[in-house]
Amino acid sequence: MLREGKKVAASVIEAVKSARQALEALAGVRPGLAVVIVGNDPASHAYVSSKSKMAKECGFHSIQHTLPEDATQEDLTALVSKLNGDASIHGILVQLPLPKHLNSEPIIQSILPEKDVDGLHVVNAGKLATGDLEGGLVSCTPAGAMVFVRQTHGEDLSGLNAVAIGRSNLFGKPMAALLLAANATVTTAHSRTKDLPAVCRNADILIAAVGRPEMVKADWVKPGATVIDVGINRVSAPEKGEGKSKLVGDVAFAEVEKVAGVITPVPGGVGPMTIAMLMANTVIAAYRKAGRKPPRF
Ligand code: NAP
Repeated sequence: MLREGKKVAASVIEAVKSARQALEALAGVRPGLAVVIVGNDPASHAYVSSKSKMAKECGFHSIQHTLPEDATQEDLTALVSKLNGDASIHGILVQLPLPKHLNSEPIIQSILPEKDVDGLHVVNAGKLATGDLEGGLVSCTPAGAMVFVRQTHGEDLSGLNAVAIGRSNLFGKPMAALLLAANATVTTAHSRTKDLPAVCRNADILIAAVGRPEMVKADWVKPGATVIDVGINRVSAPEKGEGKSKLVGDVAFAEVEKVAGVITPVPGGVGPMTIAMLMANTVIAAYRKAGRKPPRF
């Protein structure tokens, strides 16, 4: 069965809008999201404009700061510090990757943890790693992938084997922590894993976040498994015309679809969920700032 991210994301966005209205009615607070982008990378600009557009659609106070390609570490640090002190802003997102001359890690760690809607601050990563799912903010893409998992398997993954391919701080590690917190038996695979196809064949839930086009083949997949494809890879598509390209995931969709019980497409699977969970994190941050218990998304 195909799990379309757009539909699932739309239902999260509806819940975000209701929560935003309720918070305004209860506490007179409007969630505020600041998105910061440095330089001219077209893909980053496309991501940022869709985030800002969605924030407006959700009724948030939405601001975007665009710094020039030659902005210094000090310029960016000063901007984050200003946004940290701005009471109308509940969430700060610095679009990655930054231009090469900038060091992203100190910038991310300078965002107040309670405004770190990307969930990358060590405080938020640490809360997730220690099983505190209520106190911190969870990285948006794994949080979105987990919505698909819950839709298929429910809240309790007891007895299920989950394999996440990839061990990045952005995705693989928080994904493994979320699966573990839901009682799955979790394997984190990576480039040094021996016999990856055999490891994957053991998975009731298989999540690929590698960045290698169509790496996961049908004979890697246990029949009936839930397959979540996080990869976004641009490949050439001569069938669409000379010089044309298309997006594919890390899973060979056409063949794996025949084996999997549930599969997410690329594009239109996990991608839309990432933006929806960013909106959810912004509402959660605003509820907490107002001293209210946030809803669960
Ligand atoms: P990353 O930091 O490059 O991590 C990739 C991981 O894949 C690493 O842990 C790496 O292992 C592992 N890997 C590489 N080659 C492998 C191989 N041949 N066999 C097994 N494992 C291998 O990437 P990321 O930031 O996690 O992102 C992964 C993918 O997800 C990318 O395609 C990215 O575009 C996509 N993504 C999508 C969204 C979304 O919104 N849909 C959001 C974030 C990321 P080592 O650690 O051993 O090097």
